[in-house]
Amino acid sequence: MHNLNKKIIGLDLDGVILDHTKTKIELAGQYGLTIDPSETPSDIMETKIEPALYQALQAKLYSDHALSLKTPLMRGAKEGLHYIKSLGIPYYLISRRREPEYAMISLKFHDLWPQYFDPTNTFFVKEKKDKDIKAKELHVTHFIDDEPSVIQELISVPQKYLFDPFCVYTKAPAESKRVHSWEEFLQQF
Ligand SMILES: [Mg+2]
Repeated sequence: MHNLNKKIIGLDLDGVILDHTKTKIELAGQYGLTIDPSETPSDIMETKIEPALYQALQAKLYSDHALSLKTPLMRGAKEGLHYIKSLGIPYYLISRRREPEYAMISLKFHDLWPQYFDPTNTFFVKEKKDKDIKAKELHVTHFIDDEPSVIQELISVPQKYLFDPFCVYTKAPAESKRVHSWEEFLQQF
């Protein structure tokens, strides 16, 4: 059983901490596609672009040194991490990045590695359901992710938050709450 007095936070990386909005628009543009910022969240973009092209865009987005250095943070993410740390709440990064070294480049660039994340609190998993397995193992009580399809898999996590900065989802998946900003997420703590 989870002890809800002891909060443990699970964090997604892409779309929660790192902001790929601009890069996704630019990359799509290189393939002659015009997409709006509100269409860039993965669960949405995936439905707008043919699968092979979407795969190619994802591969480029997540395995390019120069792009990794250019990736900005989501608004409020660094301040949010600082706040969580100041409260002494344990937190973990659980990401599905296939090539973690490029995630590290971005995190180091923004002084989040090793200041906020290091090998003791950072995990890379393969499938969406693996996020649940890892979260369970780490006794995560609160998880924030920008993909409804991931939230749906987080069966073991008592408090789930769909991060929806563009207000594109009309409602959050069952048993989860929709938040539009880091500030709103942090009101839970
Ligand atoms: Mg994400």
